[in-house]
Amino acid sequence: MHTVIIGNGAAGLAAVRAFRKYDKQSRITVISKEGGAAYSRVLLPYVLRGKLSYDKLFLPYAERFEELGVNYVEDEVLSLNDASKEISLARSGVLPYDKLLIASGSRALWPPVKGVEQEGIHHLWTRKDLDALIEAFKEKRHVLIIGSGFVSLQAAWSARSRGLDVTLVEIADRLMPLVLDERGSALMAEQMEKFGVKVFTSTITNEIIKNDDGSFRILLKDGGEIDSDLIIVGAGVGANIDFLKGSGVEFGRTIPVDSFMRTNVPDVFAAGDAAAGPSAFGDEHVTHALWPTAVEMGAVAGSNMAGKNISYDGSLNMNVTHMFNVTVASMGKFNSKDIDESYVYDAEAGKGYCKLCYKDGLIVGICLVGVAEAVSMFGRLRPIIRKHLAVECSPTKLDAFLNIRYFER
Ligand SMILES: Cc1cc2nc3c(=O)[nH]c(=O)nc-3n(C[C@H](O)[C@H](O)[C@H](O)COP(=O)(O)OP(=O)(O)OC[C@H]3O[C@@H](n4cnc5c(N)ncnc54)[C@H](O)[C@@H]3O)c2cc1C
Repeated sequence: MHTVIIGNGAAGLAAVRAFRKYDKQSRITVISKEGGAAYSRVLLPYVLRGKLSYDKLFLPYAERFEELGVNYVEDEVLSLNDASKEISLARSGVLPYDKLLIASGSRALWPPVKGVEQEGIHHLWTRKDLDALIEAFKEKRHVLIIGSGFVSLQAAWSARSRGLDVTLVEIADRLMPLVLDERGSALMAEQMEKFGVKVFTSTITNEIIKNDDGSFRILLKDGGEIDSDLIIVGAGVGANIDFLKGSGVEFGRTIPVDSFMRTNVPDVFAAGDAAAGPSAFGDEHVTHALWPTAVEMGAVAGSNMAGKNISYDGSLNMNVTHMFNVTVASMGKFNSKDIDESYVYDAEAGKGYCKLCYKDGLIVGICLVGVAEAVSMFGRLRPIIRKHLAVECSPTKLDAFLNIRYFER
């Protein structure tokens, strides 16, 4: 049997590992269009900030391909013919498969802003982007960040840590809506301003004009202008699944899969950022675009391609990071529309807060900005949220259970 895995990232590598656990014989081919050894995208901002050395980006697992009997091919998949069970590669011709995993991840998109796609305007998504930004940070003095998601704020923190002046514009009325509730967003904006970052929410970028000296003039919809000599854009991602056009695999923005990571086509599986699978809250098709989710989905897909029958218990969104000298973390549901009760633990002045969220008497999420030690709760809460376990909600018992001693209510 020949198993082909498109993608050498979190999902693809987890699938290799799981597949080999159950099937020691079959041929495995892993294909990646990004050159070089596999690396962690999660660590790109840490290297950009100078917190981590470049060599720490690479995943040690990739070195085990030979030992695991994996044939690694650096090439781009152009199309899939699911009737003949073949994929076409840009340089290596046609490759037949018996089982196929699509773990091709996602890419950063350009927003619909006039002049956005030109030299000097960057994403922070790949190792190539990192290389370009490391160089740019050495020469440039001011950076404009467009967008305020997780990656954008990491880019802003890296730039500020490297001594650049940073301005951030966000189209929505608050920062990081996927990671923080409104209060958390406001605290983060305050914290960034303390670090000298100029933060503008509810601000629409209309056009980017490149000056003769290579710097930029950014025209805002409200008539304002910003001058900057470097721009980083973090305004949404799209799955790398263009090669599915013309195939029988159903897809929209991502590929819907069942809890076994099967697509609608027999012997074709999908996992990671390119796929939409079940969530821990019972949603059928959700794309969380997170590293742990990609690993979990990849492991389920790899096991099932090797003949097992393992069902995924659903993805639970979780983000934990440290930016602008505060810990920022969330898990599950924490926005007011998704919860009916919450306990808020306010830390001492200036230290941040933590919100534990309930729906129908069950803990469904948590978000916090501040004291790093509180993150230790996440490990205990993860199985509780995932398995919908009831926990005694009285504040005293909860405090003891979660060991929350860092906050004053
Ligand atoms: C800067 C940054 C910071 C992040 N920080 C966090 C974090 O703190 N926590 C977190 O949980 N998540 C984080 N993420 C998200 C996380 O990295 C992704 O969710 C995860 O990498 C997805 O894994 P994947 O295997 O689906 O895709 P990827 O890791 O993106 O791998 C995709 C693979 O597919 C290959 N490929 C794509 N198209 C083709 C093609 N046509 N032909 C052949 N090969 C192809 C690529 O070369 C690559 O090997 C971050 C992402 C970025 C960019």
